[in-house]
Amino acid sequence: MKSRHPIFIPIAIGAMAIAFTVTILVAWALIFTQFYIVSSKPAVGQDLGVGYWMILSIGCLFLLLIVVAIVLFLVSNIRQSNYVHKQNAFIDSVTHELKSPLASLRIGLETLERHQLDPQMKGRFIGMMKKDVDRLKALIDHVLEAGRLEHERRALNSSATDLRGLIDSCAAQIRYRYDLDETQLVTTLSAEENRSVLIDPVALETVLLNLLDNGVKYSGDRIDVHLDATAEAETLTIAIRDQGLGIPKQQLKKVFERFFRVEREGEANKVRGTGLGLYVVSLLVKRMEGRIQVHSEGESKGTLVTIELPLRWCEATEAESTGKDEGHGATGETVPARG
Ligand code: ADP
Repeated sequence: MKSRHPIFIPIAIGAMAIAFTVTILVAWALIFTQFYIVSSKPAVGQDLGVGYWMILSIGCLFLLLIVVAIVLFLVSNIRQSNYVHKQNAFIDSVTHELKSPLASLRIGLETLERHQLDPQMKGRFIGMMKKDVDRLKALIDHVLEAGRLEHERRALNSSATDLRGLIDSCAAQIRYRYDLDETQLVTTLSAEENRSVLIDPVALETVLLNLLDNGVKYSGDRIDVHLDATAEAETLTIAIRDQGLGIPKQQLKKVFERFFRVEREGEANKVRGTGLGLYVVSLLVKRMEGRIQVHSEGESKGTLVTIELPLRWCEATEAESTGKDEGHGATGETVPARG
């Protein structure tokens, strides 16, 4: 039997309380009017007196205040209950995400310990175990980052960054994580200048990894993810689009909330997650003074996430003008975040 959502009870109680109060309000008004008319037998159209109207108005006002209080109580109760529901789902999800790579690591280690494997097999096992460790690390970093972002106002560490290198490195990490080939995750960069940009590489990498990971994770059977970046004079626009499960339109606004996860039916519901990815992404984009938008035509119609970030180009260095690639790491120059 399908269990009731925990907010069902507070909603039912609140709705009943409101219905009772409104009934009382109407009944009192009717009874009071009847009683007054019967007891003082006023002629039709006769003034009922200031006292009568005052008592009735104050009574109505008080009852109205009661209704408002109940509505507020109900709203806060629903919010609280929703939050607890999401938190429980988060704990379930994290527990599962921690347990499954650990179990797989244990099997890997036991196999290596008990069996004499040929070097090729050994290499495969070690490769698989490395992936499990990476998965665990990514999950832990993810949870820690969400906590840190909420409590710390860390200034951005902008430094000279090679955009092409950073995008390629993110794509390579995701391809490795999900065993994808180049056609399943395609990236393009069209840049106005052939220079490095001043941006926080760690923040941008976290944003791109999260969005690409989601694109692949929610793709279903057909993985076809595209990242298209355009670096103009003052703006960097990055669009990440997939052809996967999509997001119901009425839930699009909620996906940036902490712990929010779209509830899906059947196989799609088995995709694991924490509900923190887009929350972390939106906080980082905001910190970089950018904007993020998510668009989907609905379930099974794919998703498009677009971010727009303010961009500052570095002065051309000798290395860049000779076309030497410096990787996406910092070159030592640190510029505090604006604002
Ligand atoms: P999660 O860890 O659950 O993936 P996110 O914060 O990254 O958490 O995403 C929140 C929810 O938004 C997800 O549960 C998922 O249902 C939905 N979502 C995010 N990205 C996509 C996407 N590319 N396609 C479909 N649904 C997505």
